[in-house]
Amino acid sequence: MTENQCPKCSSELEWDGAYHCGSCSTHYKKIGYCPECSAELEKLQACGSASYFCNTCNELKSKSRVSFVFQPILARD
Ligand SMILES: [Zn+2]
Ligand SMILES: [Zn+2]
Repeated sequence: MTENQCPKCSSELEWDGAYHCGSCSTHYKKIGYCPECSAELEKLQACGSASYFCNTCNELKSKSRVSFVFQPILARD
């Protein structure tokens, strides 16, 4: 399964508290965008499964319709 791929080098990302690409030495944050209005969705954790809520549409979005983007988390050094 290569659900979580590095947007730069397409390596599979590891999870160490955040998504991490060993080749790029970069951490990524997975962000979901609303299929209707393209707003950033809020991730709600419920009973082990994640739901995505759009504050603009004011409704939950089905995970299968959400488009995900990996955004680099900049190192603080
Ligand atoms: Zn990479
Ligand atoms: Zn929306």
